[in-house]
Parts: sequence; C-alpha cells; structure tokens
Amino acid sequence: MTAISVIVPLYNELESLPELTRRLFEALDDRKFTESLGEGTGFEIIMVDDGSTDGSAALIRKMIAERPEIRMISFRRNYGKTAALSAGFRAASGEVVITIDADLQDDPGEFKAMVSKLQEGYDMVSGWKQERKDPLSKTLPSKLFNWTTRIFSGIPLHDFNCGLKAYRRELVASLDLRGEMHRYIPVLAQWNGYRVAEIPVRHHPRKFGKSKFGTARFFTGLFDFLSVMFITRYLRSPMHFFGMAGLGSFSAGLCISLWVTADKLMNHRPVSNRPILFLGILLIILGVQLFSTGLLGEMLSSRPSRSASYTVRETANLGEEIIRNLKA
Ligand code: UDP
Ligand code: MG
Repeated sequence: MTAISVIVPLYNELESLPELTRRLFEALDDRKFTESLGEGTGFEIIMVDDGSTDGSAALIRKMIAERPEIRMISFRRNYGKTAALSAGFRAASGEVVITIDADLQDDPGEFKAMVSKLQEGYDMVSGWKQERKDPLSKTLPSKLFNWTTRIFSGIPLHDFNCGLKAYRRELVASLDLRGEMHRYIPVLAQWNGYRVAEIPVRHHPRKFGKSKFGTARFFTGLFDFLSVMFITRYLRSPMHFFGMAGLGSFSAGLCISLWVTADKLMNHRPVSNRPILFLGILLIILGVQLFSTGLLGEMLSSRPSRSASYTVRETANLGEEIIRNLKA
C-alpha cells in the first residue's frame, strides 16, 4: 500500500515542473520518512493537468518514463483548481494525502512537519503562509477572505486557502467538492467532525508564469461559502431549513388572514381596501412554496449522485480501477 500520495494541481506551469519534481523527490526519496508512517511504504505523485495548453502534459509523460512514482490525470479543458484537486483525491491511494501548488511557492521541505502534526491525532493539517510572498493586491483581499471565513465558520485558522495541506485518507474520501470549494475544505472538514490543525509554512515568491486567479474569485468565493454552509448544515435534511421558513411564513399569513376575516365578521370592516390582506396572501403563498422546495430538496438528497465535474482526456500510470472511479 502507498504511504503518501502527493497531489499537484497544475495549469500552464511548464517552467516550474522540472524544479518542482526535483524538490518533491528530494523530500520523498527518504525511506525513513515514508516508512515512519507505519502504514504501507512508498509514495506516488499525482500530477493533475487542469487543461494546460503549454505542453505540461507532454513533459509529465516524459518524466513518468524516468520516475514510475509519477502519475498523471489530464483534463480536456481548464476546469479549475477544485476539479483538479477532487480528481486527484479520487485517484489517490496513500494513507496520507498531501496537496501542493505547482508554482514552487509552497515548499516540499514542509512535508515532514505536516505529517508529524497529523500523527499527533489530527485528520487534516493546513499550512499557514505566515510570511506570504505575494503582491499586496493579493495579500490584502486574502486577509479579508480569511477574516470573514474565520468569523462565519467559527474555525480559528489564519490561512484557509493555503495550497499546502495534508490529510488522512478517510477525510479525503468523504469530500465532495464543487464550484471553487477548495478554499473551504478546512470548513467542510471541521463541520463534518474531523480534527483540523494549522502550522506555519515557508512561502516563496512565484518564480515562473503568473497567478491564475483574478478578482472574480471574491464573488464566486462568496457563493461557494453559502453553499458550503448550506451543504454542511442542511444537505441531509433540507426540510429543516425550508420547512421551518415555510411554516413560519404560512402561519404568519394565516394569522393575518384570520384576523382580517374576524374583523369583517364581527366589526363589519370591509376586507377589500386593506393592504395587509395582500401581505397575508403573499405570506401564505410564499410559505407553500418554501415548503414544496424543501420537499423537492428531500427527494433529491435521498438519492445522492456523485458524478464527476470534469472530463479526462488522458491518464498515465494509473490502475484500471482507479481510472474507472475517476471517470464515474
Ligand atoms: N491551478 C489549477 N487550475 C486553475 C488555476 C490554478 O490547477 O484553473 C493551479 C496552479 O497551476 C497552481 C495552483 O493551482 O499550481 C495555485 O494557483 P496560483 O499559484 O495561480 O494561485 P495563487 O498562488 O496566486 O493563489
Ligand atoms: Mg501560487
């Protein structure tokens, strides 16, 4: 069994790949380290090519000829980091799964520290780019993002979106990522009862190429946060949310209508010229709608589907069964 799977999501990172691979092997070609896990030996490096157009896939294919520990999944087009990570998670066979960015900003030298933190009894160890080597246009919004996520999730991490993270296999297998949810993996993990820790890690400036994320990330990020909140709290029981809201709205509308009716019957006040009547009707209709949305949600969530959110063009050096699982 494999001890460690390292997953590298990459999109047009051709220039970084040779040095990255050299440094990954430097960190992993250490039997004492991989065997210290006590569960299986050896390691694998899963390069997930997220639709690169710069020839990254061809280079990886070449590298596989020299180092059989490298495996590749290549997407038909650019699906985003979340899809790349989730394909990597599905293909990983290691007891410990580590993710790292391909752009040399994260340091493979931190693997040991992260794994030993895992062994203290955590299910996930997230890196904290304490001294971040990025332009202000990046660090400032990121501070804001981390601050909001910290407040709303109640999880005291400094750096939710560090590319360098280590997981126990079990956690990774339970993740079902969509959209740009990779930013909220620590939130999903902790809300599902896993133990999450954070340790400071070294960070380097980007050497080659440029950052793949622009300002659009802040909007999609907000929506993804809402769905993460919703999924973790209400996925198993949409009725708890919609049923409650529907019941509240319906009862308020019903009270208003009954009151208007009683007023008419007892005090002979005409119903037709009372604005509040419309509010009552509106609330009743809204209540019924919310309620039926909840019912639909229940029906949908009772038949879970986990279909892949990407299409794979090519794989290299992966087992049959893993490929089947990857495309399922
Ligand atoms: N990445 C990816 N698909 C994308 C965008 C990025 O696989 O659509 C990879 C990218 O190649 C890198 C990692 O995700 O390995 C982090 O991206 P980047 O360095 O651009 O993000 P930043 O460090 O600027 O936040
Ligand atoms: Mg980067």
